[in-house]
Amino acid sequence: MTPTAAATETTEIKSFIEGAWSTPKGESHSVINPANGETIATLNYSTAADVDLAARAAHKAFLSWREVPVVDRVQPLYKFKTLLEKHTDEIARLLTMENGKVLPDAMAEVKRAIQMVEVACGMPSLMMGDSLNDIAKGIDCHTIRQPIGACAGITPFNFPAMVPLWMYPFAIATGNTFLLKPSEKVPLSPTRMAELFIEAGIPEGVFQLIHGGKDVVEALIAHPLIKAISFVGSTPIARHIYKEGAAHGKRVQALGGAKNHLVVMPDADLPKAIDAILSSSFGAAGERCLAGSVLVPVGEVAEPLLKLLVEKTKALRFGDGLEAGMNVGPVISHDHRKKIIGYIEKGIAEGATPLCDGRDTIPGVNSSGSFLGPTIFDHVKPAMTIAREEIFGPVLSVIRAKDLDEAIHLVNSSDFGNTTTIYTASGKSAREYQTRIEVGMVGVNMAVAAPMAFFPFAGWKNSFFGDLHAHGKDAVYFYTEQKVLMTRWF
Ligand code: NAD
Repeated sequence: MTPTAAATETTEIKSFIEGAWSTPKGESHSVINPANGETIATLNYSTAADVDLAARAAHKAFLSWREVPVVDRVQPLYKFKTLLEKHTDEIARLLTMENGKVLPDAMAEVKRAIQMVEVACGMPSLMMGDSLNDIAKGIDCHTIRQPIGACAGITPFNFPAMVPLWMYPFAIATGNTFLLKPSEKVPLSPTRMAELFIEAGIPEGVFQLIHGGKDVVEALIAHPLIKAISFVGSTPIARHIYKEGAAHGKRVQALGGAKNHLVVMPDADLPKAIDAILSSSFGAAGERCLAGSVLVPVGEVAEPLLKLLVEKTKALRFGDGLEAGMNVGPVISHDHRKKIIGYIEKGIAEGATPLCDGRDTIPGVNSSGSFLGPTIFDHVKPAMTIAREEIFGPVLSVIRAKDLDEAIHLVNSSDFGNTTTIYTASGKSAREYQTRIEVGMVGVNMAVAAPMAFFPFAGWKNSFFGDLHAHGKDAVYFYTEQKVLMTRWF
């Protein structure tokens, strides 16, 4: 590991509070490379006192930052974009080492992160209000958007470079200050990116970085100077943060987990659909909130689809994501691997038929890494655990449907509603699916229907708690309060 600057040049991860890097004094944890089980860094958690210090500093900085004209507030973001581009390779390598995803996926993630910064650079236009003269004789009316204060972001392990940037470029460009608490499992890439943001010239207190788990999050939720919380992670925690945040009078957006259905119609282009399904379900070891985890073949397509899918699944190459030519890396940890295996065992116990079994030995991988092969279960019934719960690993459950109507009913009966894709050559079927489906992000013939930075991102039902989604115009609205001004001059 050869990161260059202060906070990551040793293997001790630092926090950034009141304009200074320091090592937090809380409990100490190891950051593990899931591809080989080696410790790559030590992370000390921040304490409740650190949260208080950071929140006070963020509030103080807010009082002057909100008065900086938006055209000036976005200047550090332009520099940040250039720095991120210069260091993409370095950040992506850190990301692969701490998260396990293969290097091309890590590079793609950093590029997506950069797009967030690009969109936030457009804040002078994005923040504009509406205006109408003479709403009554001699009275003019216009709306303005004002920042809300110190905001906090709590992010998951699976997109450590991208998800924090769904938040702080938008929050800071709109005039707020920000405290980031990245996942304790993957602190290296967000810390390196924070260094670059600070190098870009962000003033003291406007951006701060703290580390830790549950205790730090609870301290953030309870702190009276934190006015808004953006959360991305699993559904139980998202629900808890939404409830508790609201109870403490905060604005909250909380993105949760998923169970995503991929519906394949008999008229689908099978080879293209299969490539998309492989990428969706097994890419990033199934650890994407947009990963396809239930495959729904409609009618007679099931047999040819599954035959080809299993063949191609068995040809996937598993290994250290830093090695060239790998399709899939390890899952995040041995504990998570065990949890996924528990689901595979449950699937078998509940009567599903494994067409390939991820527990089989994968030749050539490091046995100290947390690797798990792909599992495809056929003849899954909607009531089975593997059909209902988020597994967050390379496990695909196949539920056959007799027609599109049955497929739509099945997808709509899920507790989750993050994403779904239909594979079809029929515009009519696609349109009917897009219209009737109760899901937040819907793809047609897509591998991963991930909205880009200038569109909003979030699911429905138990996949999202809140009103305004992540990034796009929703982020501008989330991080601002609207005011209506009416003026009459005599
Ligand atoms: P997680 O819920 O375990 O952790 C997310 C964040 O919450 C971390 O920063 C963690 O420190 C904190 N946290 C953990 N336990 C907590 C507790 N008891 N109280 C308060 N805070 C706590 O999620 P994860 O395992 O890091 O990430 C995977 C999950 O995130 C999956 O469920 C995935 O679907 C979801 N996810 C959703 C989206 C989306 O857009 N909807 C995007 C990415 C990931």
